Amino acid sequence: MGLIQALRGTRDILPDEIRYWQWVESVVRTIFDRATYQEVRTPIFEQTALFERSIGEATDIVGKEMYTFKDRGDRSITLRPEGTAGVVRAFIEHSLAAQGSVQRLWYGGPMFRYERPQAGRYRQFHQIGVEVLGSPSPRADVEVIALFNDILQNLGFKTLELNLNSIGTLSDRQRYREALISYLTPYKQELDADSQDRLTRNPLRILDSKDERTQIILKEAPNILEHLSPDSQARFDQVQQLLNDLGISYVINTRLVRGLDYYTHTVFEIVSADLGAQATVGAGGRYDGLVSELGGPDTPAVGWAIGLERLILLLQQLQALPHPTIDFYLVSRGSRAEAQSLVIAQTLRQQGFTVEMDLSGSAFGKQFKRADRSGAAACLILGDEEAASQTVQLKWLTTGEQEAIAQTDLPSVANKLREQIHRLRANH
Ligand code: ATP
Ligand code: MG
Repeated sequence: MGLIQALRGTRDILPDEIRYWQWVESVVRTIFDRATYQEVRTPIFEQTALFERSIGEATDIVGKEMYTFKDRGDRSITLRPEGTAGVVRAFIEHSLAAQGSVQRLWYGGPMFRYERPQAGRYRQFHQIGVEVLGSPSPRADVEVIALFNDILQNLGFKTLELNLNSIGTLSDRQRYREALISYLTPYKQELDADSQDRLTRNPLRILDSKDERTQIILKEAPNILEHLSPDSQARFDQVQQLLNDLGISYVINTRLVRGLDYYTHTVFEIVSADLGAQATVGAGGRYDGLVSELGGPDTPAVGWAIGLERLILLLQQLQALPHPTIDFYLVSRGSRAEAQSLVIAQTLRQQGFTVEMDLSGSAFGKQFKRADRSGAAACLILGDEEAASQTVQLKWLTTGEQEAIAQTDLPSVANKLREQIHRLRANH
């Protein structure tokens, strides 16, 4: 019988990598707290119709990437390919709009898309995202972009680039769509196959094409910014002005349209030159039409999502994270000593120390070697003698200094030990 392995496009996140995830999660949480964003957790699967209606039939996601199946009740179910649809459904279902104020929400968790797996592209991947519901203000657009920027800065990134564009209102887009179709139609035979297919279904998406010949044809294509109404243009100017005020740099990329149907006005992407083909770390934009499209009250909204696998790939290239530190490594030998060591470990952990207990029962020499390798500040030693006298030997691993402590004294000397460990680490 063959070994069962993880499914293609899924991956295990092991302890060496999980430290990066936990770091990112804690940074993100702090930044969200400071900006009064609250977390929501929605189900990982939803009715298929939710994604069909929100993301749109003409997109790659709905067209070919969804994990859709019939459940035992013959309902069509889809594993969520992204987070916005579920958040908006919850917003409508629980009448959050009725609470009047702007809702600032964030979410995180696994997403599922049936894609060809490669570096930075998986079938189960993770996103963290925000949604601000209920404000049409350009300040909301800039607030979410600033949050994204804060997260990247706090993680130590300096070279990520913010690409910015406006795709105006639905009617701006309709006009641009027609201009684009009439420009591209004479070149139809020269476009790549995907783009030919998109010419009628989703022509704006052609601007994303990586095909060289298509790119050359696009050089002279009409520019979306020239098709914005004066109001949309003024709004876009305001967004840029506010970003300038905050000192957030960006480049205008008129080819940036995003694949999803529900975007309006501001769209943006954060890209890295260090990710190869999967260069986009995160993306977002305004989606004023979505809430009403899904049957809710007319509600302007703006948000983004970060792909955590790509972010963490970059972080690992950027810096090594220190291993978690251990305060005490506990070695013991002999049945009484081994039994007491468990009590000592518990006592110290309850005092807030990090304690690793050697479970091997092997010779002291071997246990000491492991203590050295563990990076612990001190080794605690329990043999027959210590067991009999109810003491423990404490050996500082950097200096080799050693002292005997009565086991019952451990809680009362805890503060002194804590200070010693603190000083030791500060000197390193
Ligand atoms: P791409 O153009 O790379 O397919 P996308 O436009 O489909 O990206 P979004 O739907 O905007 O991506 O999702 C936001 C972020 O989620 C992406 O920028 C990326 O970091 C991440 N992401 C999307 N799909 C995947 C995937 N299959 N595997 C890993 N991360 C992904
Ligand atoms: Mg995609």
